[in-house]
Amino acid sequence: AKRDGKRTFRMFEASLMEDIRRRRSLEAALRQACMRDEFTIAYQPVFSSASGEISGAEALVRWTCAERGPVSPVEFIPVAEELGLVSRIGADVLRRACKDAASWPGGLDLAVNVSPVQLLDPRLPQTVARALEDSGLQPERLELEITETALLNNDEAALRTLTQIQELGVRISLDDFGTGYSSLSYLHRFPISRIKIDKSFVQRLPDDLGSASIVRAIAQLGESLSMKITAEGIETDGQLTFIREQGCDHVQGFLTGHPIPAEAFADLVARAARV
Ligand code: C2E
Ligand code: CA
Ligand code: CA
Ligand code: CA
Repeated sequence: AKRDGKRTFRMFEASLMEDIRRRRSLEAALRQACMRDEFTIAYQPVFSSASGEISGAEALVRWTCAERGPVSPVEFIPVAEELGLVSRIGADVLRRACKDAASWPGGLDLAVNVSPVQLLDPRLPQTVARALEDSGLQPERLELEITETALLNNDEAALRTLTQIQELGVRISLDDFGTGYSSLSYLHRFPISRIKIDKSFVQRLPDDLGSASIVRAIAQLGESLSMKITAEGIETDGQLTFIREQGCDHVQGFLTGHPIPAEAFADLVARAARV
């Protein structure tokens, strides 16, 4: 039994070493990707729930690593945050997305994700202002998506930064709503103009009663606070119908459109896609 225990421990140790090795090599690859500008942007179309017309897109960063192929942002963004690279990557995405969006028809909006770590960077408002200036995109067309975690960490600094961004004319939306440490006081305290209902709720619609109640409640909350609501992660007609019945303003999901490269998105817009 003792020998077995030893062997189990050795195997555990070996797999731990393997994890560390893999992590180190991902870190090195990510640093290199930053220097070589290996990131691209995919755009997922967003539609008006009422009219069915395309209303804009969310920019989603993409990384195809020479050795490992496509790496999900779910995997590399947390590593970039820890390595102090996320502000650089984020600024780059923002700059390029604003340039792309400036060439879309005037009514279309652009949403860009901002990591909680980026929000702690006091240079963020200046980065946003610069991206708008360089691209010529009207500030009203830009929306930054933040998560509740960002507000929890550092109240005062986050409030200052968000207020400065709002003063530029840029809107703020609260992403993945309902999954973090949701506190309704955030909605009051911070200049938030949109709530994005997390896909974990949307995906259990319309049959799961709990999710249906939550989605209904968030839609009502948005209505009474005069905030816009986007439902994300819509994959079925049943989900789309339910969301439309709740009066959510915008819809986004694989049903209505996957994230696609910039040129493909420009084509989609030119064809005036609708759902
Ligand atoms: P998110 O901001 O919640 O983005 C939505 C994610 O859901 C995207 O995954 C999108 O492809 C996926 N999605 C959209 N519709 C559906 C659907 O109908 N079903 C399912 N199952 N998924 C759907 P993606 O592109 O892999 O991004 C994952 C996360 O990585 C994002 O979640 C966001 O937190 C982060 N991320 C992506 N791009 C950026 C970025 O430029 N900056 C930062 N800081 N984070 C980013
Ligand atoms: Ca988002
Ligand atoms: Ca989300
Ligand atoms: Ca409404």
